[in-house]
Amino acid sequence: MDLDVSLHIAGQWRGGGAGDTLPILNPATGETIGRVAVATQDDLDAALAAAERGFAAWRRISAFDRAKILRRAAALMRERLEPIARTMTREQGKPLAEARVETGVAADIIEWFAEEGRRAYGRVIPARAEGVLQFVTREPVGPVAAFTPWNFPINQAVRKISAALCTGCSVILKGPEDTPASCAELVRAFLDAGVPGDALALVYGDPAAISGRLIPHPVIRKITFTGSTAVGKDLAALAGRHMKRATMELGGHAPAIVFDDADVDTAVRVLSANKYRNAGQVCVAPTRFLVQDTVYDRFVDGFVAASEALVVGDGLEPDTGMGPLVHGRRVEAMEAFVADAEAKGARLRTGGKRIGNRGHFFEPTVFTDVPLDARIMNEEPFGPIAAIRRFSADDEALSEANRLPYGLAAYAYTRSATRATRVGASVESGMISINHHGIALPETPFGGVKESGYGSEGGSEAIEAYLVTKFVTQASA
Ligand code: NAD
Repeated sequence: MDLDVSLHIAGQWRGGGAGDTLPILNPATGETIGRVAVATQDDLDAALAAAERGFAAWRRISAFDRAKILRRAAALMRERLEPIARTMTREQGKPLAEARVETGVAADIIEWFAEEGRRAYGRVIPARAEGVLQFVTREPVGPVAAFTPWNFPINQAVRKISAALCTGCSVILKGPEDTPASCAELVRAFLDAGVPGDALALVYGDPAAISGRLIPHPVIRKITFTGSTAVGKDLAALAGRHMKRATMELGGHAPAIVFDDADVDTAVRVLSANKYRNAGQVCVAPTRFLVQDTVYDRFVDGFVAASEALVVGDGLEPDTGMGPLVHGRRVEAMEAFVADAEAKGARLRTGGKRIGNRGHFFEPTVFTDVPLDARIMNEEPFGPIAAIRRFSADDEALSEANRLPYGLAAYAYTRSATRATRVGASVESGMISINHHGIALPETPFGGVKESGYGSEGGSEAIEAYLVTKFVTQASA
């Protein structure tokens, strides 16, 4: 047992006020590998008081100087990449190669926001009378309460922290209790780079008790949450009741449409890689595969072969292509999806079972001919299950793509420019990637529509959420 994760409150790394901790488990072995401190209500109050002071101080630092501090944080993430990535794999399970990418991309994200914060421009509006100056400024919204999940322990947090800090906001982050250590290393990089201790707090504990305290508190001006749609709705309602701005990055159920003129080999290779990345625990993972008649068998055969070729194992092993699920609850969820799909008449083509009795491994699983009333066609699996269905006319696929209340990511494969344009325009999603996987770059918008939430966590749109507009009109006296 070696991971000992503290809270960070008012410039100090410390345990929770009551001395309580939660275990940190390695999902590949089931062993306890550390403990994470639990915040009490008094700890949260101390973090809130610090966030108020931190905001007052941090907003006064120029955007130019804030950017320098953030760039140092990015450099520290690159310097510390290897140990941080290993920690992430041990607590989260993903293959080391994926953990390395996530840690390195965090540095890219920080740098991008560091620069974007310097461009929070206002404007001058021509006045109606001589001597009147009318201008618009962009000010930081205020202290932010951020809530991030375990599937990307660094990526989800770095987008929120960077966007908040680059605009001059302070942040209290409730990180993921299942994977707290790599997230804490991200926070450490910001603090070591020179972000004032009061401007960035990290807490863990009982999620509902923490959000219940932070969201309504008058110090907090902005909420940002990544997680399930069910929890997002509760938090958005609480934010609304207290008139707090909110960004909600919630669940998805991405359709992947493969038309009969697609490059099928590319579609199989790219879609299967993205289905099983992070063991399918990705909000933008392709989930409903809609494949046109004439290429259906070729696609299914290729996808099943790719699924069977995947090496499932401990993420620290060099050959591992897919690691375990994050905890036992996800394995149980997969078993329930499989049992339901079989009961409803879907054809299991490969996988379908947990692997061994040590750790939380589950086979890459492919169903075909899945009826629309199977749970897998309606609920986010958040795991390594692909559901493939056949279609004949283009309209069938487009209406199926838009059937669910989710609207996060979508994918399509076609060589026809006309089809690509049509699918790009008609799928109800916040993001659509055609003929490749091109989602989640720092400089491109990232977010959903419908029940997948609102707001953006990437692109220049991302900092809008952390800025308020002030109109100033002044006449010469
Ligand atoms: P969950 O809904 O219990 O938790 C998801 C995240 O929300 C966790 O980080 C948790 O700490 C946090 N959370 C839960 N209740 C909260 C509350 N009242 N206040 C503040 N934060 C709260 O689910 P889980 O069992 O950890 O994961 C299952 C489901 O969560 C998945 O099926 C998936 O749909 C969703 N999920 C989505 C994402 C995403 O990137 N959109 C990430 C992780 C989980």
